[in-house]
Amino acid sequence: MTRVKYSIIVPMFNEEAVITHTCAKLIEVMDSLKEPYELIFINDGSRDQSADLIRGICLQDSRVKLIDFSRNFGHQLAITAGMDYAGGDAIIIIDADLQDPPEVMLAMIAKWKEGYDVVYGKRLQRKGETWFKKTTASMFYRLLRSMTNVEIPVDTGDFRLIDRKVNDVLSRLKEKNRFVRGLVSWVGFRQTSVEYVREERFAGETKYPLRKMISFALDGITSFSYKPLKLASYLGFILSVLSFIYLVVVLVQKLFFDGQMPGWTSIVAINLLFNGIILILLGVMGEYIGRIYDESKDRPLYIVRETKGFEEEAEAEAR
Ligand code: UDP
Ligand code: MG
Repeated sequence: MTRVKYSIIVPMFNEEAVITHTCAKLIEVMDSLKEPYELIFINDGSRDQSADLIRGICLQDSRVKLIDFSRNFGHQLAITAGMDYAGGDAIIIIDADLQDPPEVMLAMIAKWKEGYDVVYGKRLQRKGETWFKKTTASMFYRLLRSMTNVEIPVDTGDFRLIDRKVNDVLSRLKEKNRFVRGLVSWVGFRQTSVEYVREERFAGETKYPLRKMISFALDGITSFSYKPLKLASYLGFILSVLSFIYLVVVLVQKLFFDGQMPGWTSIVAINLLFNGIILILLGVMGEYIGRIYDESKDRPLYIVRETKGFEEEAEAEAR
């Protein structure tokens, strides 16, 4: 058995419209290298034909493999599973929808051969995405950078190549609410980027609705920074000082100038303002506590229902 050199990881969630085409395209690009590789598709609980389509390809092509999750665990955990199962010396993570052009993988591999351990794709331009998505994404990356001490490069997704040794280190990090691109930055090693233009989705629609985007953003920030908690205490401190000054003002007015202030409106306004702020700060704490709770349960990150294409290797090793 020849050892595979490259493992391509493709997470998929309801991607039946594109997946066959993606698979063919990946094979076409990787074949041009003439080096052994594997394509690992992770079916993240799709409710369509995605898994069956890949299963069909697995039967004909032993380089194509499938990890079938028991339900939808999310994009980041799908990637994590792929990384755990990958056998290659270099591991490339790519989206199933051809938004990350497969040809860029060749540029990443060239950088890897130069000796870099991580090569991430930097988006110069994003085509075919809504104004809202582009603006919020761009704001998020900059907010994240200002919040954390880890150098997480802006405008990069999970489209990247990582060396075997980086992958081994990452698989030892078992945190639950994973923000993979942050973890990759956190581990260090020699990192570089290749620039590319993010294409339009080939077919189908985005699997990241606003709800998932928000929870993804919160995972990113809370996994790498407790600045929100610090900001909460600074804000509390500043508001206390201001309140104290205001207290002195009204007391002086009352005692020395006999200026009886009409109260209702200001009391209601102050109450609403402060209660709102307190609730927000409680929510911030809740985000962290919820994540501590997740860690403490120590459940597995994902559950695999079935794998296809890995068996032969295991048998070969046993022999
Ligand atoms: N994806 C996944 N699980 C999910 C959501 C998305 O595996 O719960 C996969 C999806 O199939 C795709 C990749 O993650 O391969 C990126 O998702 P998508 O293209 O919908 O995100 P966008 O490019 O719109 O940010
Ligand atoms: Mg996409």
